[in-house]
Amino acid sequence: MNTAPNDNNQQPAEKILCVEDSPTQAAQIKHILASEGYRVEVAVNGYESLSMAREINPDLVVLDIMLPDIDGYSVCRKLRSQSTSYMPIMMLSARQEVEDRLDGLDVGADDYLPKPFDAREFIARVKSLLRIKRLNDDLSDRLSEAKESFNVWRQVAVTDHLTGLYNRYYLQKMLQEEISVASRYGTPLACIMLDIDHFRDFNNTHGHLVGDEVLRGLARILGKDSRDSDVIARYGGEEFVLLLPMTDLEAAASKASRLCAEVCATPLASEAGNLHVTISLGVASLPDEDISTPLKLIAKADRALYLAKEAGRNRVVILGAGDSEPREFPCQGEGGACARLK
Ligand code: GH3
Ligand code: MG
Ligand code: MG
Ligand code: MG
Repeated sequence: MNTAPNDNNQQPAEKILCVEDSPTQAAQIKHILASEGYRVEVAVNGYESLSMAREINPDLVVLDIMLPDIDGYSVCRKLRSQSTSYMPIMMLSARQEVEDRLDGLDVGADDYLPKPFDAREFIARVKSLLRIKRLNDDLSDRLSEAKESFNVWRQVAVTDHLTGLYNRYYLQKMLQEEISVASRYGTPLACIMLDIDHFRDFNNTHGHLVGDEVLRGLARILGKDSRDSDVIARYGGEEFVLLLPMTDLEAAASKASRLCAEVCATPLASEAGNLHVTISLGVASLPDEDISTPLKLIAKADRALYLAKEAGRNRVVILGAGDSEPREFPCQGEGGACARLK
């Protein structure tokens, strides 16, 4: 007949692995399949068929049961465990008993045909198995695409589109989780809230697009030198929150002070002419008996931020557990540079 086996002639012919130790029968099977346009490879024993299956990844295996090394049942079991995608297996055997067929199907064969067989029936069954294989491959492709797009959308749902940082929704979700980890293991958890100083004036003077560039530049500074476990999020317009697991108040305060200095020393909208901004930061941390709910950690950092604004901006204020007075940290190192910008 020599017709192509697939509906779509553009596709390569399907590959069939024939596992048959009798040269006469192997030649007969190969002839029937090849005359239908299939590509056929022959393995003459069980172990050879396992390595060939790995190598050529056939669309169908036609498997004799009586083989010189391991029997077809063992081959079938091993093929099932070594293959990651669906591979139909048709067993062929001179054994006619119902038990033999059941054994074959039991170890994972998809079909069982007693020998001698009618060539037309054999081909009809081959076609049916290959149809199922195509459907299965198509479904797996669609499933992978769906998983991929689910992952993309899951990422989109937790990301702030302007800065690429996490958004407020994700921060709140992680806040719950990090607080329960911190209270379960008694580990510290720090929160830094920061806000750009006089940003409304900056936008009014330089325009909103330059303001957006500043927000992106600030996000880059915040993300630098961070640990994988840190959650860095855009909380609102020009407000950001850093949630720092395993970080105590003093370590968070010195990080806040370094950030404050780096921001004021770094031009954040260079295309518009090396423009600088300053930020104010508030720091709070756990353990703190005044903080009874996750949102109260943010609220305390927010209060510290408010005090930093009140005290003149471009600085860090920390509110520690049991501190009677807030403590104020200057921007570390670059204080002179910051001062000149004011
Ligand atoms: P303060 O020092 O007290 O924080 O003063 P401020 O002017 O920064 O504070 P205010 O809250 O009054 O203004 C925040 C400004 O942030 C208002 C708005 O112009 C700006 N802003 C908020 N979101 C965005 C944004 O996505 N892009 C830009 N370019 N500006 C934004
Ligand atoms: Mg045999
Ligand atoms: Mg502001
Ligand atoms: Mg603000």
